[in-house]
Amino acid sequence: MGSRAKTYDYGNCHVCGERMEPRQIKQDFWIKDKLVVIEDVPAGVCPQCGERVVNAETGRRIAALIGSLKQPRRKRTLSVPVFSLLKEVA
Ligand SMILES: [Zn+2]
Repeated sequence: MGSRAKTYDYGNCHVCGERMEPRQIKQDFWIKDKLVVIEDVPAGVCPQCGERVVNAETGRRIAALIGSLKQPRRKRTLSVPVFSLLKEVA
């Protein structure tokens, strides 16, 4: 019933056994050939070796976000030189 946000217990680092600290991290993902960065990802970060883990709910949210980014959006922009007949006459 505290006013602070509930922090998830990430347990101990599976690499070195150090206690994981809850942090907000930036996580980068390659989606096809584009690098996407998701900010404010709640994660457990190991202060010892830098290992990062996210909990299942965060993992689902990231997957959903990436899934929405992957939607085929075949929109291309073309820049075309525009000519004016008025200028040609001048
Ligand atoms: Zn570690």
